[in-house]
Amino acid sequence: MKINRHYLDLEKSYLFTDINHKVAAYQASHPGQSIIRLGIGDVTLPLCPAVVSALEKASAEMGVKETFRGYGPEQGYDFLREAIARYYEKKGVTLQMDEIFVSDGAKSDVGNILDLFDKDNTVLVPDPVYPVYVDTNVMAGRKVVYANATAENGFLPMPDDSVDADIIYICSPNNPTGAVYTHDQLKAWVDYAKKKDAVILFDAAYECFVADSSLPRSIYEVEGAKEVAIEFCSFSKTAGFTGTRCGYTVVPKALVREGAELNGFWLRRQTTKFNGVPYIVQRGAEAVFTEEGQAQTRANIDYYRQNAKVLADTLDSLGIRYTGGKNSPYIWMECPNGMKSWDFFDLLLEKAGVVGTPGAGFGKNGEGFFRLTAFNDHENTAEAAERLKKLLGELLNR
Ligand code: PLP
Repeated sequence: MKINRHYLDLEKSYLFTDINHKVAAYQASHPGQSIIRLGIGDVTLPLCPAVVSALEKASAEMGVKETFRGYGPEQGYDFLREAIARYYEKKGVTLQMDEIFVSDGAKSDVGNILDLFDKDNTVLVPDPVYPVYVDTNVMAGRKVVYANATAENGFLPMPDDSVDADIIYICSPNNPTGAVYTHDQLKAWVDYAKKKDAVILFDAAYECFVADSSLPRSIYEVEGAKEVAIEFCSFSKTAGFTGTRCGYTVVPKALVREGAELNGFWLRRQTTKFNGVPYIVQRGAEAVFTEEGQAQTRANIDYYRQNAKVLADTLDSLGIRYTGGKNSPYIWMECPNGMKSWDFFDLLLEKAGVVGTPGAGFGKNGEGFFRLTAFNDHENTAEAAERLKKLLGELLNR
C-alpha cells in the first residue's frame, strides 16, 4: 500500500488558525474589549423569507407519501436547472439544460472537476489566490505556475504567451482582491486558452456583487468562451447558502478536447461519485430566482454593499489605495507605511480591536496587503471604520 504522497507537499494551512489564536490571546489579555471581525468570508444575514417558506413547504412534502422524494437526478431537478437557465438568459447567455449541473457548492466542484484532467497538465493560478485552487492540484501532484496579481496590473493578471498552461483558474470578482475583469480582458484570456488548447475554470462565486453593468458576470458573455471554459457558481454569497449548501457548474457541450465532450465526462463523474443535492435545498435555491426571492436577496446584497462603501469611503478619505469594495464584498487595501501584512494585522488588533485577514496568507504577492470584508453588520462595520480612520489617521499624520 502506498499513500498519496502529494498530501505531504501541501503547505500547512495556518492562516485562519493563526488569526484565531492571536484574537483569543488578545481577548484573554484585554477582557471586556470589543473586537470587530472584518476577516470573515461567511455571510451573516439569514436566509430570505422566500427561501425559508420554500424550504418549509418542501420539508412538509417529504413527510407525505405522495410527495416524498428519494434519490433525485444527479444533475439536479429540472425545476432548478430551468430557473438557472432563465437567470443566464437575462445575462444574454443561452444554456442547454444538460449543460447545467447542480451541486452542493462551488468549493466541491472546483476541486472535483480535476478528475477530468490528466495529472501532467500545467496549472496556472493567480497569486494571491483562493487557496483551494492550489491545494487541490498539489494533492493530485500537478505542476502549478503563478500569474502575478499586483498593484501594477490592478490585481488582474493578463495572459503571457511565453507561459504554457493547460488549466487556468480565473476568479472574478476575485477573492481576495475584489478586482473584476472587464469583457475585453476576459476575451484576452479566452483567446489565450484557445491558442494554448487550455481550459479555463471560471469561478463566478461572487458574480451577484457586480453592480457595474458593463462588467461581465459570466465568462460566457464573452464570445467563444463556451469552447474553452467551465463556470462555477454558488448560492452561498448570492443568497446566504453557506450553511445550506447549493451551487452549480456549467460545462458547455462545445467544450471538446481530444475529441471528447467534457460535458459527458462530468456527467459520468457526477453520476458515479455524487448522488445529488437534497430536494428540500433545491426548492430553497429555486425560490432565489422568483421575483420575491430576487428582490429579497438583492436587498441583502445591497446591505453588504453599503458596508463595503463605508469601508471604501474611509480608505478614500485617508488616501489609502485599495481594490474591490464596489463590485465585490472584499476590500484589498495596501498596508500603511509599507507595513507587512501580519504587522498590520497585529497593530489593528492591538490598537483598534479590528480583525482582518493578512494578504500574505493568500500568496507571496499578498504581502503588504490586507483583506477587509463587508459581511459584518452595519453597526459593527461603521464602528470598525471609525476605529480604522482614527488609527490610520494617526499613523499617516492625516
Ligand atoms: N470560490 C471562491 C472564490 C470562494 O471565496 C468561496 C468561498 O468563500 C467558494 C468558491 C466556495 O463557495 P461554496 O460555499 O459554494 O462552496
